[in-house]
Amino acid sequence: MTITGLDRYRQMVSVMDTPLTALKGVGPKVFARFEKKGLRTIGDALAFLPYRYEDRTTIKNLNELLPGEATTFMGKLKRLEVRGYRKRRVLEGLLVDERGALSLKWFRGNFDWLLKKYPVGEELIGYGTVGVFAGRKEVVHPELELVGEDYSASESDPVTPVYSEVEGVHQRQLRRIMRQAVESGARARVPLVPQEAQALSGLDPRWWEDPGRIWRELHFPSKGGEDLTKIVTGCRHVAVLEEFFLLQIALLLKKSGDEAVGGVKHSPTYKLVKALLSSLSYELTDAQRRVLGEICADMERPSPMHRLLQGDVGSGKTLVALNSALLAIEGGYQAALMAPTEVLAEQHFKNISQLLTGLPVNVRLLTGSTTAVERESLLGELSTGAIDLIIGTHALIVEDVSFRRLGLIVVDEQHRFGVMQRVALAEKGRDGALPDTLVMTATPMHRSIAMTVYGDLDLSVIDEMPPGRRPVSTKIVKERGRGEVFQFVRQEVSKGRQAYVVCPLVEESEKVELKAAVETANHFSSEIFPDLSVGLLHGRMRGSDKAEALEAFSSGKTQVLVSTTVIEVGIDVPNATVMLVEHAERFGLSQLHQLRGRVGRGGNESWCFLLAGGSVSEDGWQRLRVMEETNDGFRISEEDLRIRGPGDMLGTRQSGLPDFQIGNILRDGPLLEVARGMAQAVLKADPPLSSPDHSVVKRVVEARWSSKLSLLYSG
Ligand code: ADP
Ligand code: MG
Repeated sequence: MTITGLDRYRQMVSVMDTPLTALKGVGPKVFARFEKKGLRTIGDALAFLPYRYEDRTTIKNLNELLPGEATTFMGKLKRLEVRGYRKRRVLEGLLVDERGALSLKWFRGNFDWLLKKYPVGEELIGYGTVGVFAGRKEVVHPELELVGEDYSASESDPVTPVYSEVEGVHQRQLRRIMRQAVESGARARVPLVPQEAQALSGLDPRWWEDPGRIWRELHFPSKGGEDLTKIVTGCRHVAVLEEFFLLQIALLLKKSGDEAVGGVKHSPTYKLVKALLSSLSYELTDAQRRVLGEICADMERPSPMHRLLQGDVGSGKTLVALNSALLAIEGGYQAALMAPTEVLAEQHFKNISQLLTGLPVNVRLLTGSTTAVERESLLGELSTGAIDLIIGTHALIVEDVSFRRLGLIVVDEQHRFGVMQRVALAEKGRDGALPDTLVMTATPMHRSIAMTVYGDLDLSVIDEMPPGRRPVSTKIVKERGRGEVFQFVRQEVSKGRQAYVVCPLVEESEKVELKAAVETANHFSSEIFPDLSVGLLHGRMRGSDKAEALEAFSSGKTQVLVSTTVIEVGIDVPNATVMLVEHAERFGLSQLHQLRGRVGRGGNESWCFLLAGGSVSEDGWQRLRVMEETNDGFRISEEDLRIRGPGDMLGTRQSGLPDFQIGNILRDGPLLEVARGMAQAVLKADPPLSSPDHSVVKRVVEARWSSKLSLLYSG
């Protein structure tokens, strides 16, 4: 019997799935420590790449260190002692070699433990950023290792990997374990990118030659100096391209599956669109007009539309969406608009109903609070086609909702949904054809993220605000500034304006969240603004109470609205000019930007105050300062992505974003494009992936992605 590629792949999978306990030195106790770090199998360990390398071939003498440089250094510990007393205690050490000296300093930490760990006279290897204090070079809070003990195990290597800490496991022990994992992983590794695609990667072919080399070099590079970066980058690119390639194959298969099913071909008459536009007191902006043209062109084509509509908060996406819906409705189709929250769905319903006054369009609302009786009758009308436009929340995608002729799905604020949910609704088209999909987002998504999540998604951008908008002035307010800010709110209210106060969401417990919001509202109404009318809005209120609270605020009866983040998206009260965010440090930047977008909608000068209380870290302040510096949603989302990582920004569980083990969609964006080209080439030559050379790819894609993307794909 010959061993096929598929057999070797199976072997690799079984090695990757082997628990770490199979390795020498990993008993139950050590395993538990690895497990805490999320590392259970050899595969997990392989993806646990060193976060830096100690390159012994380039270690400089201490006198050659340059201020500002992050570097590895080595020397003998000549002194280590605590100076100062009580709160001013500093642990200071002096490292020396033949040529020079370097001070080491700690302002925090367990000094006794450090003193015991690093005996004077020992040779140390360290890493950190070189600074200068009082004319002497120093490193504050260095990472240190004893050369004699921890280091000797790998002394024969030119480069030593440094892994992020696995609590309770020494670097030296960690390296020994990693070396075993890497060896078995490397021996079993089979290339998952077919040769013809490798050739399109733009990488030097020798990086693809030896599959096992990738793991070996990424963990224990064979060369230091100038070669180190080259080797690690080359090998990393291979690993990343492989991940991206497989996902792109899956997405392209999904797309061609969709195309095979076919989409709705709309034939708009423009009657309703014209009627709506002529009833408005303003003109579409150029950007809105352009984007609507792009959508219309897509809708008239028979293949299903997958378009992302990106526009900053307040740029007028809703109007574009409504016009798109009318294009579908004119041609005899139904349209659905899905919003992430009930409050937003209600707002959309209210605004859209108003905009459609006098037009022959039957618009209805379906949310979790719709009564059973009403729901029953709505479902009936949806299936007969009596309803033209349905606006709703997740309740829309529940299984028993069926349409007569669903032609367009608009998903607002997509970053809160996942791919799965989008697909669920996309399959609601009854008569076989897939409805067009328009996804709206105010959180500018990187092209690379959009591509990751949706594959071939077309992008339309509204890059212009309706006239008369003013940027919102943003200020960070510390504890002692609160009084002044409250005074400011009172002033605005006395001019007839309104204010929002937002409290952070406590995700672990809705009860706690509720309590916090209610308490804050009480606090604001009885102590801070006893002279004003303060309202409360939170996610756990009954639908009708929510609507009432919102109505009171829109009509101006409520002057200050205290709420949780339910108001984050879509609420439109132009008279509101002040936004106070409590514990702003607990929010993501994109979320703050969304919140800030609730004010500055009426042409009046508007303000956003970020109240940051208690102990905010230096990073925390820096993050918040981005909000003061810019109103540009794109920059903010980039910062967010940089600081929190993509999974976090999109809400890992909700995003539907695949987890990459090695790749990072922000950093490796260009590789995503390359991988897409590779995948396209492979599928062009062999659409069903039926050649034996592609059996492994086919298997991997089926195993990893098919359920996630509900591939319409039969092989
Ligand atoms: P988004 O959903 O993009 O955040 P909205 O659709 O809620 O923005 O629009 C914000 C506000 O701008 C709404 O009050 C809307 O009526 C108004 N608006 C939309 N388009 C225009 C336009 N072309 N000119 C003036 N105002 C507009
Ligand atoms: Mg909106």
